[in-house]
Amino acid sequence: MGSGAATWHLRAVSPSEPTPELLPQEIIRHKRDGAALSVAEIDAFVRGLVDGSFTEGQVAALAMAVFFRGMGMDERVALTRAMMRSGTVLDWSDAALPGPVVDKHSTGGVGDKVSLVLAPLLAACGAAVPMISGRGLGHTGGTLDKLESIPGYVATPEPDRFRAVLQQVGCAIIGQTAALAPADRRFYAIRDVTATVESIPLITASILSKKLAAGLQYLVMDVKWGSGAFADTLPMARELAQSIVSVAAGAGLPTVALVTDMNQVLGRTAGNALEVHESIAMLRGEPTEPRLAEVTYALAAELLASCKLAPSVAEARTRAEQAVRSGHAAERFGQMVRALGGPGDLLERADALLPRAPIVCDAAPQRAGVVASIDVREVGIAVLQLGGGRRHAADRIDPGVGLVEVAGIGEHVGPDRPLARVHAADPASAARAIATLQRAFAIADAPQPQAAPIVTDGLGPTAAPR
Ligand code: URA
Repeated sequence: MGSGAATWHLRAVSPSEPTPELLPQEIIRHKRDGAALSVAEIDAFVRGLVDGSFTEGQVAALAMAVFFRGMGMDERVALTRAMMRSGTVLDWSDAALPGPVVDKHSTGGVGDKVSLVLAPLLAACGAAVPMISGRGLGHTGGTLDKLESIPGYVATPEPDRFRAVLQQVGCAIIGQTAALAPADRRFYAIRDVTATVESIPLITASILSKKLAAGLQYLVMDVKWGSGAFADTLPMARELAQSIVSVAAGAGLPTVALVTDMNQVLGRTAGNALEVHESIAMLRGEPTEPRLAEVTYALAAELLASCKLAPSVAEARTRAEQAVRSGHAAERFGQMVRALGGPGDLLERADALLPRAPIVCDAAPQRAGVVASIDVREVGIAVLQLGGGRRHAADRIDPGVGLVEVAGIGEHVGPDRPLARVHAADPASAARAIATLQRAFAIADAPQPQAAPIVTDGLGPTAAPR
């Protein structure tokens, strides 16, 4: 374009003033009308999330527009990257770590204690696992709450200590720090109160921005489906798994996703210290509930094969099982707990060291028969009623309460076999939890129903066929 006469039409624009198409209301309008947002628009939105220049109403409006209009893969990658860059991005390149930097993330369930076994198991197989976990909210438990039931465990260490533990032990499970992906924290809080959490593009960006900010090289995802999961149907979980695998690849993080069943509690326990007990038992090589063992080893095998610590998924599985059988995974767990302030003899003295509830009683079924189905969300609510979960982020939890010996689908229950044993702080909360459990379990006469397979799909370039 020539210079001269045309230039006087231009208005001077100060560098801080957004160009018209980057005004919040214009970005919202584009998405409302079904357009794909540009990288510049997405960057402007994420800047606005962090510096407050997008008001709460504007953030909510854009979230709702995305909820209804969706986002293409390029938009999802741009949102993920922008949210990752909104805070500190950890860099492990000069940390001389013992192996590739890997992690697992689960979309959340009831009784999901896989991380407690998987992190030390992966470390014992040669990986470095900087696992940044969350607290529980609503019906699902959080890994951090489980670990904080261990006396002295420091779940939010200084960055130098986190790094030192990772270097020495090969794994460190800690809490989310305010410095990682701060845009997601504000965005999630607004989504949570505006019915916009259940958007696959937004969940994808939320999860992956935090994982990318942790400086990972490889990720395995456990995408759960069923009555205790955020995705209640298998097609929804598959769509989320595919979105996560594709967007992670686009953002440079090789990821495998397994789709796993959450129509029954994972393992036999639900509740913080009780789940630590079950995890320690598995690490010590004691008999483990088969679905818990299967999910743990399947995730371990996929991750060890994808980061090339094993030549195939089958060989990786053998090594993962051997890491538990040999006691090496248990050793790493004990070292991690000690290095993060917990007792050095937790593995040997868990009964004496972990908090316990004063009341233990049976949740009898309303009639004898076979467990036909379980509303697992309600089972999570029963734990919450016992004081083992949170209704609000600021709630305190009671680490000792929860459920053990939880019955699974197809099991006989009756006078000699309760639905679960309840560990409670007082009789009133025990009674409330028992009533909730009785509603949660549907009991049928024989013939026995078939439980869903625990791992249904594996997605990602290196995933084993299923
Ligand atoms: N978990 C997350 O971290 N983000 C979401 O949006 C949903 C679940």
